[in-house]
Amino acid sequence: EGEEVMTADIRAQVLTETAETVLQRRYYLKDAEGKPRETWETLCRRVADAVAEAKQKPTNYEELRRRFFHMIYHLDFLPNSPCLMNAGTDLGQLSACFVLPVPDSMDGIFTAIRNGALVHKTGGGTGYSFSRLRSKDASVRSTQGVASGPLSFAAVFDAATETIKQGGKRRGANMGVLRIDHPDILDFIVAKQDQQKFNNFNFSVAITDAFMTALAEDGDYDLIEPSTGAVRRSLKAREVFEQIVDLAWLNGEPGVLFIDSANRDNPTPQLGLFEATNPCGEQWLLPYESCNLGSINLARFVENGAIDYDRLQETVQTATVFLDNVIDCNRFPIPEIEEMTLKTRKIGLGIMGLHDLLIQLGIPYGSDQGRQVAATVMQFIHDAAEAESIRLAEEKGAFPAYDATLNDYPPRRNAALTSIQPTGTVSMIADCASGCEPYFSIVMIKHVMDGDRLILVNKYFEQVARAEGFYSEELMQKVADSGTVIGHKEIPKKWQEIFRTAQDICPDDHIKMQGALQKSGVDSSISKTINLPSTATREDVKHSYVLGYNLGCKGLTVYRDGSRDSQVLNTKERS
Ligand code: UDP
Repeated sequence: EGEEVMTADIRAQVLTETAETVLQRRYYLKDAEGKPRETWETLCRRVADAVAEAKQKPTNYEELRRRFFHMIYHLDFLPNSPCLMNAGTDLGQLSACFVLPVPDSMDGIFTAIRNGALVHKTGGGTGYSFSRLRSKDASVRSTQGVASGPLSFAAVFDAATETIKQGGKRRGANMGVLRIDHPDILDFIVAKQDQQKFNNFNFSVAITDAFMTALAEDGDYDLIEPSTGAVRRSLKAREVFEQIVDLAWLNGEPGVLFIDSANRDNPTPQLGLFEATNPCGEQWLLPYESCNLGSINLARFVENGAIDYDRLQETVQTATVFLDNVIDCNRFPIPEIEEMTLKTRKIGLGIMGLHDLLIQLGIPYGSDQGRQVAATVMQFIHDAAEAESIRLAEEKGAFPAYDATLNDYPPRRNAALTSIQPTGTVSMIADCASGCEPYFSIVMIKHVMDGDRLILVNKYFEQVARAEGFYSEELMQKVADSGTVIGHKEIPKKWQEIFRTAQDICPDDHIKMQGALQKSGVDSSISKTINLPSTATREDVKHSYVLGYNLGCKGLTVYRDGSRDSQVLNTKERS
């Protein structure tokens, strides 16, 4: 197999019209007049060649560039957007995720704003913990004044982001984290109630085990001044939790992060603790760490009604080498990030098209069997990636911070291997359900020029409906109008179950899927939305958070249908 077979004909079969549009708008390099001067094939060659070469051409360069090209070109695996956009160009910044420290000093805060701006310029997203900042009325010794607190500084980060468009192709995205025991936590929880504010941020509360214990016992917990360690006051855990629930019910924010669960899995505690994640929550990183992501398209691994594990294993191996190479050819925005990233060499191998895989196997997403299959596949991917990372360590050395006396795992090349990213744009290129999410709709009506309407039907549903003879334009119209396949008597019950969408799947099943994936093979974390119906109550939201915590999730985002006017990163709206 080789480059000869990649003709225009194959290309036409592979890429959808939507994919081609997305690529032309944002991914293909442009000429001086702003016209795309690339095709999918030449883009894949640019990426494969640059990443195969890394720092200097290895002896197996030809083999590597062929394997990389093949896997990307055929949509078996796609790296995160910055890699597709910037590999082999002068910009050369290839990572999506960064966490920057925000120290409790003027110098530290404005250094973080500057560093964040440099990251955004190259297409990366940044996560910040504001938990180290002294609270709003704490004293400032040098000026004898009082501090303005984390929220007032977060507003400056927000304003800086507003003025910088990420690399001209992505808008700046930030995660802002505050610990539940920070004295300003109550202000933070309600900060985004005003939907005009902090629009370049996702806000999440870092919830501790101590807080969850106080909540279970209906007890109090302490707020601690970060600059002095002094207990400022105690609050009823239940009342604070209810505040979070109220706001999340109202408009989906703040999200929650389970910070102690994340730190239990910290692969290099000797280097520091996790304080924050990247904007969409799938990567816990240490201050100044960055991570490059890539996703296996599971839609492409079903053969005759079964998972093709041999080809999946090969693809995971190639993807692991690819992501590890990305670290070496990356141009890091600042030296501190380069230094930290090279110490741990974290990669984020994830999945997309999980729902496609389950549909092709005829298994409902929200079922025990669906969760079992998902967990088995994710564990398989993790184990294959780990084996490859161990092999890479033998070939090129373990990640430098590896310490056999401190770390209870074998020497490998990468401190973290797996996470599940949203794949908001790359899943549009691959034409599959994003990340580990179920499809959002099965039939959509698109209004085009002259009042014409285009009926867009999920490709698997159309195939099934035509094969089983229940396809009709009238039915498709009805499915589009009702927003669901459920309850239409023309559709056999079995298919109603298999084609349930995000809104038809009950919230507990969403959470159980996230929990199953987290426990089976995801090192870092998972970006996932728990969809609640518009009729969901505050009790339902509360129940979701507690269930997610108990199932070992490292964070949770709930979204009640229709509750928010606009979202920072509404995955399908971004293109
Ligand atoms: N991200 C960002 N800006 C965006 C979208 C994403 O900075 O507009 C970052 C963010 O850290 C997010 C990560 O990229 O968590 C991965 O997002 P996604 O998988 O949706 O990116 P894709 O590669 O599909 O563009």
